[in-house]
Amino acid sequence: MKLNELTIKQAREGLRAKKFSSVELTKTCLERIKKLNPQINAFITVCEEEAFAVAKRADILASQGETWEAKPLLGIPFSMKDVYSTKGIRTTAGSKVLENYYPVYNATVYQRLIDAGAVLIGKTNCDAWGHGASTENSDFGAVKNPWDMERVAGGSSGGEAAAISSDMTIFGIGEDTGGSIRLPSSFCSTAGLKVTYGRVSRYGAIAYASSLDSMGPMAKSVEDLALLLSIIAGKDDKDATSSSKEAADYVNSLKKGTKGLKIGLPKEFYGQGLDGEVKEAIMAVVKTLEKQGAQIVDISIPSTEYGIATYYIIAPSETSSNLARYDGIRFGNGREAFGDEAKRRIMLGTYALSAGYYDQYYLKAQKVRTLVKQDFEKAFTQCDVIIGPVSPTPPFKIGEKVNDPLQMYLVDVYTVLINLAGVPSLALPCGFSNAGLPVGFQVIGPQFSEQLLLNIGSQYEKVNERHKRKPNL
Ligand code: GLN
Repeated sequence: MKLNELTIKQAREGLRAKKFSSVELTKTCLERIKKLNPQINAFITVCEEEAFAVAKRADILASQGETWEAKPLLGIPFSMKDVYSTKGIRTTAGSKVLENYYPVYNATVYQRLIDAGAVLIGKTNCDAWGHGASTENSDFGAVKNPWDMERVAGGSSGGEAAAISSDMTIFGIGEDTGGSIRLPSSFCSTAGLKVTYGRVSRYGAIAYASSLDSMGPMAKSVEDLALLLSIIAGKDDKDATSSSKEAADYVNSLKKGTKGLKIGLPKEFYGQGLDGEVKEAIMAVVKTLEKQGAQIVDISIPSTEYGIATYYIIAPSETSSNLARYDGIRFGNGREAFGDEAKRRIMLGTYALSAGYYDQYYLKAQKVRTLVKQDFEKAFTQCDVIIGPVSPTPPFKIGEKVNDPLQMYLVDVYTVLINLAGVPSLALPCGFSNAGLPVGFQVIGPQFSEQLLLNIGSQYEKVNERHKRKPNL
């Protein structure tokens, strides 16, 4: 196994046993980026010099006996979706507006990771401002899916998922407003966690829609996600919406079994529009969990059909307000640098919020959002978790939907509801279509049930080794 292919756990073991150094590990990732990035386009910025400096320091600290308890990610290379402020390192949010923007402070998530000793190797490509489901709305060009270069990697954190699945990085951090961690994870056969709203600080992340934005880890295994969550979760005085609920011991909870677990299958998730092969792959997951002792319960999320309409009023409304600051006066280029999709959403949102239309659109959407939340609360009185598809189809072709925004929005049918309800969801690979394209599923739980979701995910991973399959590059 090459060093860049390692999980966090494996990399930690190797570093601890002094089988290799952080500089060597970092070097293999950077070499992989040099080889594959010109084709895949997963990275917008690669920070080679900074990475080597941090890796060297990590090796010195390790030789001086730095403990893994104090620095659980010491010397481990990682990448971040380019929406996190990284002091002195270019941060673009995938938009030409911020083409030359170098933040003067760090996002809390980034600060916590570097405090834990991790080595940032680069910032990954995404749909500009997080607007999209395919990374084709990036002003820096589309990301190609490592499993099939003619297809999209999903979005908006497509660069991150592509970087992880092609082993250009050991782990990553994404951001999920309506599916942006889960969809690319599912399209690229990697693991991704959308946390409960407020579980992880949003401070320093470039805002898309502030009431929906969730920061979360993306990785090669559930165990890695658990470790990362234990590092980034928790109260942050700089984000008033971060929860003061204490973070659980995510790593040690992985040992628990799933016996007696009640899994809900919402009938609205498995009807018309869901690709047959995707459905089949998810049913196989359900069977596996049943064999491990889980029970299946038929449930209903009646508001499913209103999810897209509700989300595409609330998210553009919030983004139209958040993007107002990019006026070219304070920072970044002027408004003329906004791409088509950003302009479309600014117009949609401004319209939905304008006097005379506010009650009809924004206010009504907020009311439906309450119904969505109540549907999930009711469902969780009947089951412990819900299993559903992430995307209605396997990854689609580059160019297939980008000129038809409505078609693109429909890709989010199973993911946006979860953000509207503010609950957590874990996306994991569950197989491949006949054409060899990755298929994923999501396990959704009540607020702050990350521990339970990770536990279920790790039980599943034990018997299903599909996540270990690599694209042929
Ligand atoms: N595809 C959705 C959108 O375009 C979700 C994006 C996201 O989660 N950032 O808004």
